[in-house]
Amino acid sequence: MYACDFMKVLIAEKCGFCHGVRNAISVAEKTLMQQKDRNSVYSLGQIIHNSNEVERLAKIGLKTVDEVEHICSGTVLIRSHGAAPEQIAKLRAKGFDIVDATCVLVKRVQRIAEELANDGYKVVIIGDEDHPEVQAVMGCAMNVVVIADESDLHKLPHNARLGIVCQTTQSPEYFGKVLGAIGRSDFNELKVMNTLCNEAIKRQESAVQLCLQVDIMFVLGGLKSANTRQLAELCKKYNKQTFHLQNWNELDKNILFGKNIAGVTAGASTPDWIIAEFVKNLEAFNADSG
Ligand code: SF4
Repeated sequence: MYACDFMKVLIAEKCGFCHGVRNAISVAEKTLMQQKDRNSVYSLGQIIHNSNEVERLAKIGLKTVDEVEHICSGTVLIRSHGAAPEQIAKLRAKGFDIVDATCVLVKRVQRIAEELANDGYKVVIIGDEDHPEVQAVMGCAMNVVVIADESDLHKLPHNARLGIVCQTTQSPEYFGKVLGAIGRSDFNELKVMNTLCNEAIKRQESAVQLCLQVDIMFVLGGLKSANTRQLAELCKKYNKQTFHLQNWNELDKNILFGKNIAGVTAGASTPDWIIAEFVKNLEAFNADSG
């Protein structure tokens, strides 16, 4: 028996798929529909960082590979995180059809990095070096350096002209913090381009607003999804009862004990059906145990 009678479930005003991810999924579905041989459509890396959605698309024929070398023939989909120009050149050289679903905002960061390098700046990306978006941007300019936090500052050359961009899904607070640290280094010139994604910021703002009003907060999305992890970290700062889950099956029902209001948000790569299923089950669970 769980004491969660009358628990309300509130959903963040902005959550779930952003336009970049929605576009990538719809491009993938259309490409699969158009192919006679559905087995020949590949995604270079997971199309989005959500294994439930990747599994759904795999069932209708989308194959995920990590390396260009693992593709024999067919159509290759470039995911919303983009791909490095060198990877795209390899695909072209091998004669594959390319369908580019790179988010326009990610393309913008790539273009800016290239322009900064052409203008003689040492390009600095603030973000996570292991993230595919950052790796693709790294491939767009020569001698790029990635700064995740103060411990990376030693990578900066002395007296340089630094041209700075940020991984799109980072928070303004994080961007400002790392920027402040870079500002204390011995650079000659600093050019800062704001490459943060407004969609991600809106999700962060509405998640914070919501988690302040609830007893327990759920952040739904892939464990590898950078923007979902950002949301969860942010919510944890304001509400210690925050849980990052991929779906309803992962919920330990015992944590609902004594809670009256639950909040639900989701990262930009979390499909609507995962959110709807979670909310429906949470509401049904209350009714059953009330
Ligand atoms: S979170 Fe922003 S940058 Fe990333 S895919 Fe979505 S719209 Fe594009």
